[in-house]
Amino acid sequence: MSTSRTTVTLTGTGVPHPEVGRAGAGVCVRSGDTILQFDAGRATVMRLKEMGVTPHQLSAVFVTHVHSDHVVDLADVALTRWIQQEMYRCGPLTVVCPSGKPERFARRMLEPFDDDIALRMEHVQPAPPRVDVVAFDPSPTPREVWRSEDSSVVVTAVAVHHEPVPDAVAYRVDTPSGAVVISGDTRVCAEVGSLARGAAILVHEACRSRAMAEATKGTPFEAIFEYHADTVALGEMAAQSGVPHLVLTHLIPAPRNDKDVASFADDVRSGGYQGTISVGRDLDEFVVS
Ligand SMILES: [Zn+2]
Ligand SMILES: [Zn+2]
Repeated sequence: MSTSRTTVTLTGTGVPHPEVGRAGAGVCVRSGDTILQFDAGRATVMRLKEMGVTPHQLSAVFVTHVHSDHVVDLADVALTRWIQQEMYRCGPLTVVCPSGKPERFARRMLEPFDDDIALRMEHVQPAPPRVDVVAFDPSPTPREVWRSEDSSVVVTAVAVHHEPVPDAVAYRVDTPSGAVVISGDTRVCAEVGSLARGAAILVHEACRSRAMAEATKGTPFEAIFEYHADTVALGEMAAQSGVPHLVLTHLIPAPRNDKDVASFADDVRSGGYQGTISVGRDLDEFVVS
């Protein structure tokens, strides 16, 4: 196996409403020794462990935006890494995030654990947990936000459209074996389409808004779906971007049988997309090539 082999693993394909077998939002990209986690929704640490990764091994964590389903496990990642620190001698946890609300969240997320941290320091831990927050201004054009020490892996970010939620971004990871794009939460937008040009895999949130339009009319879901990615429009955008493999995640509504799964793929096809479609399940792994 080449050390530059790149894999993409879904650590969570769920949404705020809990669903059996679907952890909260998250994607892990591994390229050689570089291990990058994008978002840390419910049960991220457990899913990472199931794929053979523990928080002390992470090179960095990236936040797409502050909705609880994307960050609720971020403190767990940081605290678990800290508790493992004496054993593994790992450095601070690097958290890369947009400035504004995500930066504010990352800087405050351990405050409720002050008492626990103080107690553990009295007994075992010689120092408090260290989190290096690397904040950047979200930009409508892609900008580099992180690179590995040997520069073999580079991450860029672009602002997306999840309004009214501010400071939301998508990320692109360029590795020696190809690129992967992670949309975070967004309406279907040209920014992600451009970011995915030339990439091997696009991991995109998916919401069957049009299919559910009648059922959600006049309910709170109508407003919520307005800032998520309709599957038919997503098919149109993915076709234009030319990305060969589209991985759907953050599935609304969560598919419960093969027919539901097929409905997601059918929507994307009806948008004109002809590449490979994967309707994501937790711990699905894809090789970037
Ligand atoms: Zn979400
Ligand atoms: Zn969101």
